[in-house]
Amino acid sequence: MTDHAVVLGAGIAGLLAAAALADTHATVTVVERDRLPDGPFERRGTPQAPHLHSILSRGWLTIEELLPGFLADLAARGGDVLDDAHLGARIHVQNGPYTFNRTDPVADPAALTMHLVTRPFVEFHLRRRVAALPNVTITDDHDIVELAAAQPHRITGVSISDRRTGHTQALSADLVIDATGRGSRTPLLLDNLGLGRPPRRSFTVHGVYYSQRITIPDHDTFRERLILVVPPTAAGRGGLIAGENDTWTLTVAKHTNDPHSPPTTFADMLALAEEFVPPHIHPALQRAQPLTDVMVHRYPGGTWHRYDRHPHQPEGLLVVGDALCCLDPIHGQGITMAALHAHALRTHLRHGRDVDPRRFHQALAAVTAPVWAMNQPPGHTTTRSVKHALQGRLIRWGRHKILQSADDIVVTERLIRVVNMIDPPQRLLEPTLLARVATHHIRQTLTRYRRHPGANTHA
Ligand SMILES: Cc1cc2nc3c(=O)[nH]c(=O)nc-3n(C[C@H](O)[C@H](O)[C@H](O)COP(=O)(O)OP(=O)(O)OC[C@H]3O[C@@H](n4cnc5c(N)ncnc54)[C@H](O)[C@@H]3O)c2cc1C
Repeated sequence: MTDHAVVLGAGIAGLLAAAALADTHATVTVVERDRLPDGPFERRGTPQAPHLHSILSRGWLTIEELLPGFLADLAARGGDVLDDAHLGARIHVQNGPYTFNRTDPVADPAALTMHLVTRPFVEFHLRRRVAALPNVTITDDHDIVELAAAQPHRITGVSISDRRTGHTQALSADLVIDATGRGSRTPLLLDNLGLGRPPRRSFTVHGVYYSQRITIPDHDTFRERLILVVPPTAAGRGGLIAGENDTWTLTVAKHTNDPHSPPTTFADMLALAEEFVPPHIHPALQRAQPLTDVMVHRYPGGTWHRYDRHPHQPEGLLVVGDALCCLDPIHGQGITMAALHAHALRTHLRHGRDVDPRRFHQALAAVTAPVWAMNQPPGHTTTRSVKHALQGRLIRWGRHKILQSADDIVVTERLIRVVNMIDPPQRLLEPTLLARVATHHIRQTLTRYRRHPGANTHA
């Protein structure tokens, strides 16, 4: 035993895992392939960073639990915080034809707090905070070469190579955490050790993001700071979000089967923005200025490596974040999942430093399964359980009916809580909420009937 933990990858999942490990391990080394910038700047290893990132409230709360005081620190360094009861005035969310109540106050604004900062800004401040922990070292500009297994069925370290000199060194560790993201090579490295690859599930969406950082000099002419719209017709989505230092991110996300030509200029982006940004913001948007070119990011779909079901899962190796499960990012769940994985790691470490990988990955599977089910495109399900498939369909049907009633603030708040993972999806099916939804539908039907007594009253 070396009392040394090694984390592979200094993205958000790796940094949060390192924070969890720092409580129990004498030393923690985070190995990162990129040379890490000394500021909130984009870098090669996180190509998603220029694109719209909106972290769910559950994610923020979990990050704060792992690193107390982090959110106050983040707010002090820039970036708006949305934490008042009149959230609706600052957030414009539209899902197809459904509109949400934007005028009445929510009952529990603290649970729905949101920080408006860019992804490089969050990552940089997380990195600063984790690097300041006395027992954590971040070794950047190093690549992972292979996993070491000095004992059968036990990972005992990793060899890494310096990207400048090519020098390779072996790091022994009693725990190795893979947080290398979507391109994780762990399935291959396990195969090389004769342990085989974990089973995996996947779905394809051929997604593409187009984003541009912009400045909106007239941003005081409107109150909205986060706009997320799924237009009723198009397959794509649009988003505009404020970030630190008066920068905004404008994003259009599509699936590549979209027949429209892709945006390549600021003018193209503005034309698309006008399709989803509320009209009262158009004049301010017309005077906006681009800060970057249009950035493009493509992704094939989602993949979940089922380490929980791997028959030859070795001791001493855990996998977290996108390396375990990468989702379709349009639902904005990835960072929250990374935070929940780190939280689960901390819980398991409290039972002793020798974490049982099967139990750990099973715990992550329990967190991942409902998110995975909701993340897939409509009509696509990889679940083999009839019960879960039916549950998923019921929740989707219920959500449709509930969305139709979202001009009621109680319904709006419950939807926002579920989407932000504060409440589980089952809370949408609670009898008191369904009674409100039913009353709403009856009232709407009666109104329609009174207006047009002879007409068909079906919605
Ligand atoms: C376009 C897009 C938009 C997104 N929007 C959102 C959003 O709105 N909200 C949200 O919550 N999530 C969003 N996500 C998902 C989110 O970015 C990730 O889920 C989250 O950052 C967790 O990532 P990670 O740390 O697991 O992996 P990554 O962020 O990919 O980090 C992996 C790290 O490992 C390093 N690495 C890789 N290979 C090696 C190697 N061989 N050796 C050493 N280091 C290595 C990389 O350089 C990188 O630093 C989005 C993703 C995309 C693609």
